[in-house]
Amino acid sequence: MTTPIVEMDGDEMTRVLWGMIKDELILPYIDLKSEYYDLGLKNRNETDDQVTIDSANATLKYGVAVKCATITPNAARMEEYKLKRMYKSPNGTIRGILNGTVFRTPIIVKGIEPCVKNWKMPITIARHAYGDVYMNVEEHVEGAARAELVVTYPDGRVSTRKVFDFDEGGGIVQGTHNCTSSIESFARSCFNYALDEKKDLWFGAKDTISKKYDHHFKDIFEEIYEKEYKERFEEAGIEYFYSLIDDIVARIMKSKGGMIWACKNYDGDVMSDMISSAFGSLAMMTSVLVSPSGVYEYEAAHGTVQRHYYKYLKGEETSTNSVATIFAWTGALKKRGEIDNLPELVRFAEKLERATITTIEAGRMTKDLALITKLDNAVTLDSLGFIKAVRASLDDILF
Ligand code: NAP
Ligand code: MG
Repeated sequence: MTTPIVEMDGDEMTRVLWGMIKDELILPYIDLKSEYYDLGLKNRNETDDQVTIDSANATLKYGVAVKCATITPNAARMEEYKLKRMYKSPNGTIRGILNGTVFRTPIIVKGIEPCVKNWKMPITIARHAYGDVYMNVEEHVEGAARAELVVTYPDGRVSTRKVFDFDEGGGIVQGTHNCTSSIESFARSCFNYALDEKKDLWFGAKDTISKKYDHHFKDIFEEIYEKEYKERFEEAGIEYFYSLIDDIVARIMKSKGGMIWACKNYDGDVMSDMISSAFGSLAMMTSVLVSPSGVYEYEAAHGTVQRHYYKYLKGEETSTNSVATIFAWTGALKKRGEIDNLPELVRFAEKLERATITTIEAGRMTKDLALITKLDNAVTLDSLGFIKAVRASLDDILF
């Protein structure tokens, strides 16, 4: 390796797994070049969160990052870590700087079957992480009143539309927005990722009802597709498919899977939880933030697994699933290898993924999977035991 990978260390049990994965599965096999940023809450506090910003800027510079799960502070964490202030979620900060879209894909293994029996391939959710109801303005209308939507332009032009005339009973009213530039970035991230992964891209909105708002999403996707991506999609043999969101949901349920499903912010929030639980477990879900300029940040979809960490601190045995974190590493290594034309690095990452899956399919897994597997020879391993079992499988593949 010549160009570094940006390495963002994190918190609690996932920080423990991070060290184990590096020691057992990465450093003995490759000449890792990484630029290390400690995003553990202690260091974020000591640097006034500057470390998070620095790590995101380094990601823009080098193009590939791998991130450990991190604590998003709340009141309890303020006390626990004696924080100077309640820092924002690092993922939010990084997403803001990279301006990216998050793609989440389940990792499929034999013996852990999806609840939907016709889903044979993973379904990737791409959630637009800007605007709509997450940045809304709401009002509880207390009685008879007229609600209006007013847009004021800098040249003084004003557009006013009646939303509703409320009677004495009052009601509720809400204003939401999105930005053309953000929707364009979202569309390009989705099209680029579909080309990267050679998978079809599906997108659904409610444009028949929402003739301006949702229709704008539909039009932007359509225009960018026609102008910038159509030819490359045809060459790659993949398809862009738009339909109404309810039609998309119905088709997804009957599909074999294998597509990337672009979702508006709220749809993505809801559907990603449905997809992850239907495929088995959040610990078997990869997550990558892709910026429209082609910068990639890989992580696990789950959090820092606090409950296991407190057991670990007491010296008790833990059986925490490291698969999503291993796949964050392999995703980053593969991408570094692709960008820098290092086929050996790509092959190593693929073998590590195969070793991880073979280990589970041979019945050696952590407790969360042992509880749901259909295999009858399953053996539950502790956190380090599982990683060592993956190492043994990797050695079988490599040597
Ligand atoms: P969590 O860390 O995802 O864990 C919730 C529960 O899910 C765990 O207690 C465990 O269940 C199960 N679980 C999750 N990952 C697992 C794994 N790898 N192996 C085995 N079981 C796993 O969520 P949380 O406890 O709500 O949040 C903890 C901290 O993580 C919070 O401070 C939050 O801010 C942070 N967080 C960070 C990210 C991120 O950085 N991307 C995302 C979400 C949350 P059992 O206890 O039943 O075994
Ligand atoms: Mg959700």
